Amino acid sequence: MSESRESMEFDVVIVGAGPAGLAAAIRLKQLSPDISVCVLEKGAEVGAHILSGAVIDPVGLNALIPGWKERGAPVDTPVTDDRFYFLGPAGRLRLPNFLMPPLMSNHGNYIVSLGLLCRWLAQQAEALGVEIYPGFAAADLEFGPNGEVTGVITGDLGVARDGHHKPNYTPGMVLRGKYVLIAEGARGSLAKEIIARFGLAQGHAPQTYGIGLKELWELPPEKHHPGLVMHSMGWPLDNHTGGGSFFYHYGERLAAIGFVIHLDYRNPYLSPFDEFQRFKTHPFIRPMLEGGRRIAYGARAITEGGAQAVPKLVFPGGALIGCAAGFVNVPRIKGSHNAILTGMMAAEAAFEALSQGRAGDLLENYEAAYRQSSVYRDLKRVRNVKPLWSHYGTVLGVPLGAFDMWVNQLFGFSPFGTLKSKGPDYAQLMRARDAKPILYPKPDGVVSFDKLSSVFLSGTRHDEDEPIHLKLKDSALPIRENLPVYAEPAQRYCPAGVFEVVTAGDGEPRFVINAANCVHCKTCDIKDPAQNIVWTPPEGGDGPAYGNM
Ligand SMILES: Cc1cc2nc3c(=O)[nH]c(=O)nc-3n(C[C@H](O)[C@H](O)[C@H](O)COP(=O)(O)OP(=O)(O)OC[C@H]3O[C@@H](n4cnc5c(N)ncnc54)[C@H](O)[C@@H]3O)c2cc1C
Ligand code: SF4
Repeated sequence: MSESRESMEFDVVIVGAGPAGLAAAIRLKQLSPDISVCVLEKGAEVGAHILSGAVIDPVGLNALIPGWKERGAPVDTPVTDDRFYFLGPAGRLRLPNFLMPPLMSNHGNYIVSLGLLCRWLAQQAEALGVEIYPGFAAADLEFGPNGEVTGVITGDLGVARDGHHKPNYTPGMVLRGKYVLIAEGARGSLAKEIIARFGLAQGHAPQTYGIGLKELWELPPEKHHPGLVMHSMGWPLDNHTGGGSFFYHYGERLAAIGFVIHLDYRNPYLSPFDEFQRFKTHPFIRPMLEGGRRIAYGARAITEGGAQAVPKLVFPGGALIGCAAGFVNVPRIKGSHNAILTGMMAAEAAFEALSQGRAGDLLENYEAAYRQSSVYRDLKRVRNVKPLWSHYGTVLGVPLGAFDMWVNQLFGFSPFGTLKSKGPDYAQLMRARDAKPILYPKPDGVVSFDKLSSVFLSGTRHDEDEPIHLKLKDSALPIRENLPVYAEPAQRYCPAGVFEVVTAGDGEPRFVINAANCVHCKTCDIKDPAQNIVWTPPEGGDGPAYGNM
């Protein structure tokens, strides 16, 4: 297949221009300007598919570009006020900061738009000679004679929905690298294939995830407190559904408000989008938003498996970096610093290998460096927090998690050893007949909204006449099995209204996929109980058009 395609050769090919991929590219060029590096990005521009909170720990940026401040990095709002609340249906309880484990402190951190930071990192990378190709999705892998990864193949352009080639048809290209670094973020489509093919997850806990929904608001000046960071747990989620909110004030009257729901939730009637909308109607939250204007919306999965779920990082011909492997510190909701640091470690291992004239083998030094690194220590100290939340629910699990973090902080060990998660998220749903349907309030158009007007604000666009990028392994399964057993949860877990069950004139239910609305969060690939939905990259450049998420 690859013979008829054009190809380009590089020393290192990187898939994904997030913090991990860009950090790896920059580090490689810092180590040797002669190394050729290319970065592929499926978004129409760098940052267009980046969605994060984001309060960042600057430790990654300090290591990568020590003079980031002088060089104008868009990192301007230091955290000045850090608050944590438990919400009840009508009230709230603020946890005093002295009770919070110091591991959770945001002192010294900054509130940023990770999308803008990635755009700035891309400029730094290009100034060093990195070739960045936005609008090109890596759709496939190329393998060498010994099974090693030798490159990636970009998606074909100009293919119609029925498969015929349109006048603008352009076959994808092969981008070959002596090493290929996979930096696709949470639930990467190539990472998934590589992890399965090379058995990288064997002996490790299954990766688990949350779905993060986020809106950007412009607040009235009197309600805007730059530097304020607020988190909450509790309402509107019940005790057995994990998750919580974030609310960060930064920049010129901007506030990032969002909600993360752990995808090990059990009730198939739950709709993460509607829980988020309901959260904003809480009597404590609503007044903070009233008088403001919602300007952007999006959603993205976040890795939550922690240290136990990090797979083997290297495979013949490359490595997984950043959230493609899953380095998020879950109680802190922070992964971008670890994405940068693991990108740098992999770059250093690749540089060393290239200097020795090697190619296509295992970058074992990266794996070894990770085990010795601050990233490993960061994750190891909090490894039991998410399992405690999942096993014991919010009321008991959160205090146990806090106790665990305190013991770790003070004595350097966990009283719980190393706990396991409940298993993969897709296996956690209960049957619809055993679950309580959830009635969500209608959006008020002031602080809460519907899905379609939200997707509009994400700027999402896909060519209507391209093959559907959400593939069903068995097209009859959603109606045959998911509908009777789980009331087809895809209708509710998708934050963009992509999946619908409609009943046509003949009275028969049909499963409809509105693929054009997909915001590339990857939740369907994670949560479908039959693992029947496979997310694949659509034409490069399609998807959300996030400005500063
Ligand atoms: C709602 C939410 C809130 C968060 N809050 C915080 C926070 O406050 N602080 C913090 O530190 N972390 C936070 N995180 C986590 C943080 O965003 C991630 O840890 C970080 O973005 C991971 O960086 P990455 O480079 O590995 O992946 P990503 O940032 O996901 O970047 C991956 C890039 O690769 C591209 N890509 C993917 N597949 C392909 C392909 N096949 N071909 C070409 N391009 C591809 C994507 O379009 C994207 O641009 C949050 C995450 C979420 C979802
Ligand atoms: S179709 Fe899947 S990836 Fe796309 S927005 Fe819906 S859940 Fe997310």
